[in-house]
Amino acid sequence: MANRNCPMCFGKVPRAAVLARSAAVDCPHCGRGLELSRPSRLLASLLGLLGAWFAFHYTSGGRGPLGWAVPLVASILAFGVVSPVFLMLHADLVVRPEGGAEPLTAAPGHAPH
Ligand SMILES: [Zn+2]
Repeated sequence: MANRNCPMCFGKVPRAAVLARSAAVDCPHCGRGLELSRPSRLLASLLGLLGAWFAFHYTSGGRGPLGWAVPLVASILAFGVVSPVFLMLHADLVVRPEGGAEPLTAAPGHAPH
């Protein structure tokens, strides 16, 4: 798995650009439109969820008026830390398809048959 390398010119893309604009980052060397690969997104999400579960498991069981909130806050923070750290270390970039991504919903009036 490449680490933030452009697949066209093999130049290194800065970490901040990959993390801040993961769906539409431009290569600073050749100018091609890049995005995170699907395996990178899925692994980052999976590891973030595992980190959140880990944090929830180890902080649950607290007492007091806010004992229920600590596991939730810890799990959200863990997801927010683990997922970007994985992307900083193992982000795989692919060339962004021309014309942008496919729409997530069908256009109105075009019901499937
Ligand atoms: Zn490039």
